[in-house]
Amino acid sequence: MRLGYLQVSLTLINVLFLQFHLYLPMRVVRVRGDSKLCVGCRLCMLACSTAVFGVINPRKSAVEIVERRPETEGFSIVVCSQCGLCAEKCPEKAIAVVNRAYVIDVERCVRCWLCVEVCPVNAIWRRPGVDYPVKCISCGACVEICPRGALSLEESEVGVA
Ligand code: SF4
Ligand code: SF4
Ligand code: SF4
Repeated sequence: MRLGYLQVSLTLINVLFLQFHLYLPMRVVRVRGDSKLCVGCRLCMLACSTAVFGVINPRKSAVEIVERRPETEGFSIVVCSQCGLCAEKCPEKAIAVVNRAYVIDVERCVRCWLCVEVCPVNAIWRRPGVDYPVKCISCGACVEICPRGALSLEESEVGVA
């Protein structure tokens, strides 16, 4: 009789755990930029293109440094927040979380460029010489090279822009 209660209890705990687990929001790793610390050296862009494409070419980078207008001064760091909107909207389901970041499956991608249009922070690009959209995969190469500590990797929930 006692064994029966124990089995029922264990089954209940299992069910509750699975339910809880299923409803946990998915967590991703994103690059966070602190534009106040950025001096515009663009080493991050060089590190990114080297890590992803094996070439030193800032025009292939997935992180972009934008010089602000003279009246505001400084630089803005533009990088994917891993919010997942592009994955949600992709008609081919070609974008999915791999190693805790949204990654494009170039075999599935049909080059409709809808993802580029929908990104709320304009952090997925058409790049010269690359025939598919380029976005950050949170590899951390830019974080390591930044001499100002303006970039960091942090965990966040999917859907946080
Ligand atoms: S490496 Fe750091 S300081 Fe240099 S441009 Fe990139 S974010 Fe700014
Ligand atoms: S919509 Fe933009 S910010 Fe969101 S995951 Fe896609 S590229 Fe990143
Ligand atoms: S360009 Fe490719 S990844 Fe982007 S929405 Fe279209 S099929 Fe999806």
